[in-house]
Amino acid sequence: MKKAILGKTGLNVNKTGFGALPIQRVDFDEADKILKKAFEGGIDFYDTARFYSDSEEKLGRSLSHVRDSIVIASKSMAKTPEDLERELDTSLKMLKTDHIDIYQLHDARICYRPGDGTGLCEALEKFKKAGKIRHIGITTHRMSVAREAIESGFYETLQYPFNYLASADDIDVYERCVKADMGFICMKAMSGGLVSSAKAAYAFLDQYNGLVPIWGIQRESELDEFLKYSHENVTLTDDLKELIEKDKKELSGNFCRGCGYCMSSCPAGIKIDDCARMSLMIRRAPSQRLLSAENREMMKRIEDCIHCGACSAKCPYGLDTPKLLEENYKDYMNIVSTGKIEPLK
Ligand code: SF4
Ligand code: SF4
Repeated sequence: MKKAILGKTGLNVNKTGFGALPIQRVDFDEADKILKKAFEGGIDFYDTARFYSDSEEKLGRSLSHVRDSIVIASKSMAKTPEDLERELDTSLKMLKTDHIDIYQLHDARICYRPGDGTGLCEALEKFKKAGKIRHIGITTHRMSVAREAIESGFYETLQYPFNYLASADDIDVYERCVKADMGFICMKAMSGGLVSSAKAAYAFLDQYNGLVPIWGIQRESELDEFLKYSHENVTLTDDLKELIEKDKKELSGNFCRGCGYCMSSCPAGIKIDDCARMSLMIRRAPSQRLLSAENREMMKRIEDCIHCGACSAKCPYGLDTPKLLEENYKDYMNIVSTGKIEPLK
């Protein structure tokens, strides 16, 4: 397995990281099987968050016996030093550890800096001094925040969406990060499941040094696939390059990445992460399941949208989510009534 050094943290980890968001969706026994297999397969970097319900607890239960052999990154969305400390203490308890290797401000909408009056950076420094955390990081979906975080000189790692759909500006963020000797933790390596080839995704990211993708793993089969790539020398062949170009053409522009950050705000209970990208999913996966009665019911909920705008306000990609939902609904109902799936314009 290839190794990567995460910038000035000096942490030298295997280049295949484990994103522990999806293990929320499986029970403790299944999570235990996956996490132990991941460790035995050579994965030594695990990224979780206080926000990911029982993900930290699952990691703590399954991997605390090998704590000294793994690197753990966690994160908090707290907005006050008091809440941040409370969340950190809960994370330590759940993870069954006395320290977190990389502690990150989660989904930052602004770049917090020492002396900005929030007290968050000072609190992070205090935790570091006390040995509760070893390194300070930030995660954001916003390019402007990522750039500011790099320029601030305060953070040791940046977690940012990066995959083969990356724009020239995204690549510039990665390059600035490396230049600033910060570790680059790469989220959304499969763009929320929309890119069509895990192999191409893996080969694309494997080209970049100082970067560790955290593959979101929920099933044993997904883990097996990434472990296989990590032990082979997967390179970008012409076939994979062609596939990437095809995906880039189909997925350019404003599309929902399925991050789910807007969902808790929806008073109508719309499953926005699935509904707002139905048109793409139905053209990129076997459509039968997506046309089931259950899915029709799910899509019908879009009719209950009251256009309150709470989802757009939360969307880190600045999407006009209600409009996107409307367009997806119209397209879906058209497919249901005609049985035809036309190419998207
Ligand atoms: S605009 Fe519609 S989809 Fe968005 S949060 Fe409000 S009700 Fe939900
Ligand atoms: S609309 Fe935005 S916040 Fe909501 S799931 Fe899609 S990308 Fe995420």
